[in-house]
Amino acid sequence: MNLFTKSLVAFAAVATAASGVVVGPTFAQDKGTIGIAMPTKSSARWISDGNSMVEQFEAAGYTTDLQYAEDDIPNQLAQIENMITKGADVLVVAAIDGTTLSNALENAAAAGIKVIAYDRLIRDSGNVDYYATFDNFKVGVQQATSVVDGLKARFGDGPYNVELFGGSPDDNNAFFFYNGGMSVLQPLIDDGTINIVSGQMGMDTVGTLRWDGAVAQARMDNLLSAHYTDKQLHGVLSPYDGLSIGILSSLKGVGYGSGDLKMPIVSGQDAEVPSVKSILAGEQYSTVFKDTRELARVTVGMVDALLGGSEPEINDTTTYDNGVKVIPSYLLEPVSVDGSNWEEILIGSGYYTMDQIK
Ligand code: BGC
Repeated sequence: MNLFTKSLVAFAAVATAASGVVVGPTFAQDKGTIGIAMPTKSSARWISDGNSMVEQFEAAGYTTDLQYAEDDIPNQLAQIENMITKGADVLVVAAIDGTTLSNALENAAAAGIKVIAYDRLIRDSGNVDYYATFDNFKVGVQQATSVVDGLKARFGDGPYNVELFGGSPDDNNAFFFYNGGMSVLQPLIDDGTINIVSGQMGMDTVGTLRWDGAVAQARMDNLLSAHYTDKQLHGVLSPYDGLSIGILSSLKGVGYGSGDLKMPIVSGQDAEVPSVKSILAGEQYSTVFKDTRELARVTVGMVDALLGGSEPEINDTTTYDNGVKVIPSYLLEPVSVDGSNWEEILIGSGYYTMDQIK
């Protein structure tokens, strides 16, 4: 609760005591202000994260200050500094670049503000209290497993020609997705079942800055013209739906998915509407659903505990070392989604209505 709100609460209390009745709004329900810093509105998942948090924090009696930074680091820093100045009680931050917030978080700590890293780990700072996220390694395992299953189903026993895409190298999650994916693919590369025709491997080579679909599309164009004029591509490990859509456009551009040229198996993440539609159209093969409503619920629970003086619920104390300390974390379960289960998972859970998809 900031100073201004605190004095209003005090004023309301005095007014009540003096007159016996409360006139006008009181702030007795206001348990504090939560600054929520989200990376961008360019991807639907972050809009849904923001909306779920505002709804659930407000229902729990908090005031929210939700800001989006359109993937601009100085913009996100300014938003966070502003939340600190305005006297937020807790900051919930999904960082654009997980390494750039150390100074801002020093200021937060000096002002007694608690910090929760949301979905993406904030690195290189001792001033991160908790981390709420999904099991990011498992996301990568699910993406690669669905690629392998899809390859068998669409192209038989192999060997298969595959290319790899990584997420943004400034997002800690990108490494977890990639490493999870490679834990499944590397043994198949080693035994010759999967051939990375371009030879391009490793996050420093296959990363996609700021998760930009246009960058992935351009890289796919280059891979196709440099390595696949006389070979067929069978699969693409893609870590995020926005990249998958770019990759699919590049593939369609050279004729994949029409005539005899079957569409390669392309993975994804976030179950964004264009990708769910693409799965239904037989283009994208799979995605990974991460229920942002659940992530918001876990985060609100953490804040409630922190401000109420109890220990937030966590289920992981070893995985997420941010370079300064291991951040106590709560990891939610991701769910692999493809043509066989999208309806049960996405419509059945109430995440989407059928109208949004069809
Ligand atoms: C999130 C993913 C998302 C990606 C791009 C990652 O940090 O965990 O869900 O696909 O950012 O926005």
